[in-house]
Amino acid sequence: MRIDIMTLFPQMCEAVMSESIIGRARDTGKVEINFHQIRDFAVNRRNQVDDTPYGGGAGMLMMPQPIYDCFMKICGETGVKPHLIYMSPCGKTLTQERVKELSEIPNIAILCGRYEGVDQRVIDEIVDEEISIGDYVVTGGEMPAMILADAISRMLPGVLSEPEGFMGESHYSSLLEYPQYTKPPVWHGVEVPPVLASGHHANIKKWQRERAIERTYERRPELLENAELDKKERKFLEELKNRKDGE
Ligand code: SAM
Repeated sequence: MRIDIMTLFPQMCEAVMSESIIGRARDTGKVEINFHQIRDFAVNRRNQVDDTPYGGGAGMLMMPQPIYDCFMKICGETGVKPHLIYMSPCGKTLTQERVKELSEIPNIAILCGRYEGVDQRVIDEIVDEEISIGDYVVTGGEMPAMILADAISRMLPGVLSEPEGFMGESHYSSLLEYPQYTKPPVWHGVEVPPVLASGHHANIKKWQRERAIERTYERRPELLENAELDKKERKFLEELKNRKDGE
């Protein structure tokens, strides 16, 4: 899979995406991530990429032409039009389900906005989708783009050391992950739940599923609507609801 990121701060992105799991995935060719400096496509003498908004208002806006030309260069390199995502607080909020779908698209490009955002005409002409990382505003699209590129990359085959290691994680199957423990067995007087050290795999699995259901019910009950639970787990959830209602 190839991801092309258009930004005014490629070095910032490169630093983040060169480390740890994503850095290794890039080094071993499991994902190709390229950063493109939008400013290289400025057509004026001062390399200006922003200007004041028509109609007034605070701040500056990114001009359409440098973004368009940058994207055309990427299209020329890939030989196809990548699925272009503009990171924007006006977009649809990112979910794990959408991340999974995007991980199946071979060519993705991401546009990072700055200032007060981007001229609407270039969004209308080349952007396929706007994605938000949440109902708040950050100063630029770079961190949102890093979040998206990271989330997509870790779904690709061979990127995580455990094959399909993401399947038990929070949100993959509409459950939050169960609590986890490591050494020492007792810390600050608190013992690791004995079942986890029992070596009894079926009991451990049952405990983990029930704790995941419990945690999801307490923190994000709306997720349970889409969770796949077997008969026993559904019964456990009903009992849990009755118990909590009675408290
Ligand atoms: N004026 C814009 C608005 O009110 O919708 C916000 C502009 S923001 C300061 C600058 C850039 O940061 C945006 O163009 C976008 O690329 C990025 N950004 C900010 N918040 C974001 C969010 N929640 N999700 C995705 N991108 C975001």
